[in-house]
Order: sequence, then C-alpha cells, then structure tokens
Amino acid sequence: MSSSPLSTEQLLAIDKAHIWHPYASMTAAAAPSYPVVSAQGVRLKLADGRELIDGMSSWWAAIHGYNHPALNQAVKAQLDDMSHVMFGGIIHPPAAKLAKLLVDITPPTLDKVFISDSGSVAVEVAIKMALQYWYSTGHKSKQKLLTVRNGYHGDTFGAMAVCDPVNGMHHIFKDVLPKHYFVEQPQCRFDDAFEEQHIAEMKARIEQHHQQLAAVIIEPIVQGTGGMHFYSPGYLKRLRELCDEYEILLILDEIATGFGRTGKLFACEHAGIEPDIMCLGKAITGGYLSLAATLCTARISTGISEGEAGCFMHGPTFMGNPLATAVACASIELLISQPWQSIINNIERQLIKGLSPAFLLSQVASVRVLGSIGVIEMKHVVDMASIQKQFVDAGIWVRPFGKLIYIMPPYIMNDEDLATLCENILKVINQQ
Ligand SMILES: *Cc1c(COP(=O)(O)O)cnc(C)c1O
Repeated sequence: MSSSPLSTEQLLAIDKAHIWHPYASMTAAAAPSYPVVSAQGVRLKLADGRELIDGMSSWWAAIHGYNHPALNQAVKAQLDDMSHVMFGGIIHPPAAKLAKLLVDITPPTLDKVFISDSGSVAVEVAIKMALQYWYSTGHKSKQKLLTVRNGYHGDTFGAMAVCDPVNGMHHIFKDVLPKHYFVEQPQCRFDDAFEEQHIAEMKARIEQHHQQLAAVIIEPIVQGTGGMHFYSPGYLKRLRELCDEYEILLILDEIATGFGRTGKLFACEHAGIEPDIMCLGKAITGGYLSLAATLCTARISTGISEGEAGCFMHGPTFMGNPLATAVACASIELLISQPWQSIINNIERQLIKGLSPAFLLSQVASVRVLGSIGVIEMKHVVDMASIQKQFVDAGIWVRPFGKLIYIMPPYIMNDEDLATLCENILKVINQQ
C-alpha cells in the first residue's frame, strides 16, 4: 500500500465504487460527490482549488466555522492527556466540565446528563428514559409515544418510529417498527396568533390515549429535516400544559435548534417552557466530533433508579469520549462568551434582506427566516444534481432537499459573505 496521496480521480473512483453517502443510491447514475480537501472559516476548499462559501454549517453543526483556533487547541490539548477511556466506573475532567456546562445553560429543572455518540442515539436514550420511568414507577401501560407529522428525530429504529411516517418510509419497516400515535403538524406558523383549534387534534389524542402514553416527542419551534416548518411558541406552551394535565412526559428534540440557532440558546425558551427530557447534538461540538447528550429532570432519574432494574439500561462504548467532550466544552464556552444573541439577530436581518426578493419569483412558494435559518420553499421539487452543480459553480455550498432550499450559515459569517451567499442563491433560483 503506497502512502502517496490519492489523486482526485482515484478519490472519485473509490467513492463511486464503494462508498455510501447519506440517503444515496449505489447504483443510480448519482450526482458526483465534490472532493473537499480543507475548510477554513466559512469556506470549503475543493480539490480543484475553488472555494465555496458554506451555507450549511455541515448540517447545523459548524457554528464557529472550520479550523477554529480555540477548538483546534482544545482537541490538541486533550489528545496529549488521553483520547479515550471507558466511562464505566471512570470520570474525567472534560466530561464533568461538559455536564456542568449543560446543566447550567439549559432550563433549570434539567439536572442529569447522559452523554452519547450521535443525535439518533440521544433520541433512543430519551425514549428509553421515558418508557423506563413509567415502567419503574408502576405505570406499566404507559409505553407509547405521541408526535406530530413531518417530524425528524434520526435514523435508528426507535427514532425512525417517531419520524414522519411517509418521509420515514414506515411501510418498508412496518414489521419491526414500534407503532406510535401521530397527529397533524402544528398548523400555526411562528408569527401566527396561537388558537386552541391549532392543537385540537393533539388534545383529542391525548385525552383518548393518555393511559398508554409515556411521552410526547417534538422538535421545538422548528421542524427541521421534515420540512423546515416554523411554528408558534403558543403551541408549545399549550402542549406543556396538556402534558402536565394528563401526566405525560414532554421530550424536546433540540438537536437542530440548540445552541443559539433560532435566536434563543434553546428553542423552548421562545415559549418559556421546560421539557422533562431534552436531546442535544449537532452543534454541541461546534461540528468537530460526533457527540450528543440527553438531559432529564431529577424526577425522571430518581424514578428510573429506584425502579425494578435499579439502573438506566444504556451504555455506549464511546460514552463521554474525552476528545469530543473537551471540544464541546470549548465550543460552548466560545459561544456564550460572545454577544451571540446580537450576532444571530444580525444574521436574521441579513437573511431577511438577502432572501426576501425571492418572494417575487414565480418558482417560489414561500420564504421564511428565523434566527440564523433561511428557507426558500419552491413550488416544485428541485433536481438535486443539477442545482447542486449550479450552486457550486456560483461559489456557494447549499444542499437542498425536495422543494426546500435552505441555509443555516456558521455564526461567524460576515455581512459581505452573507450577502454573496443570498445573491447567488437567488441567481441560481432564477435559472430554474
Ligand atoms: C439531525 C437530527 C437528529 C439525528 O442526529 P444524528 O446525529 O444525525 O443521528 C435527530 N433529531 C433532529 C431534530 C435532528 O435534526
């Protein structure tokens, strides 16, 4: 095996022959992958030397941009102490520091932290916590979940069972997926006044099934991958009341919305409510390493710990990984040491200014912006391969899905790059 670097041709040949990509085919004449050789600040560098302004933050994660000196330093320093050590029977400084940071910045009643490897696993852990809590406290019938359509919570089986039944292709896996309850997605948009009728179906289902319901699971304020739908804080507030009234736990999946993305540190703050269980991931390490966390209240942890099993039944091999927890601490400290709120507010203004002209285009169904998230919904499904190439040729990295062209840029992007990003998106849309 030669140690010489791969040529771009070799790289692409291996990719085509052997490598799965997210939600991709191995046989269709798929769009080629773009070879990225490095990334710096808000720019991805391609093998042919071109640089692209990154509109995606590598799927919500790289909030401080790429190759950040403070985050690099955190990984390097931790590497010299230890890169990994098992978490059974052992505690180490970066995990302890991260847990304390998370408890301090999340809503006050969240007090216990389960650190895992990825968002999907954080959701599995949250579901398991809810089920084990009710089992342990003698409510053995409460083992079902209730959620809304167009949700996305991850790709593992427990998480997939609460994803949108159509997008999540439940029929393919119907013999193995647990069956849960679904109601329509929140009908009130972010700026709409919430009315009781908006939650009527949810309320009816809760009244009907509360004796079987362990928890409601939902993405707060922003339904991400399931449609980039922003809904009213009033809905979330009322949902909290209904969960309390009928003794159902509320799981908030903040994996996409957490760490400032919507203009609040956590999206539940828009509604002034607290969940019983919260899932975090994506931006938690600033996009450096895979890590996630599930937080819960002392009521849940006590119920589980004093129940039949006497312990919580979960424990990944790489739980609490020191490199990942160290860089998570550095990323969170970097975020909260800055005037992040005014930074996000400024990005929101720039996105409104830059994307609003798309309203006038006949191809466009709607334009919406919340915090540092900008969405252009087209009237028709876009051809991913051809539009991706047009974006790259225009010097920007934007990856649409379905009818949605959306961006969530790194928080460090300056006004000039934001303007260029928006202008080039509009230029490409104009060509559709
Ligand atoms: C991305 C995402 C997940 C899954 O996280 P992975 O790290 O991809 O497993 C779960 N929930 C939400 C809301 C997400 O955006």
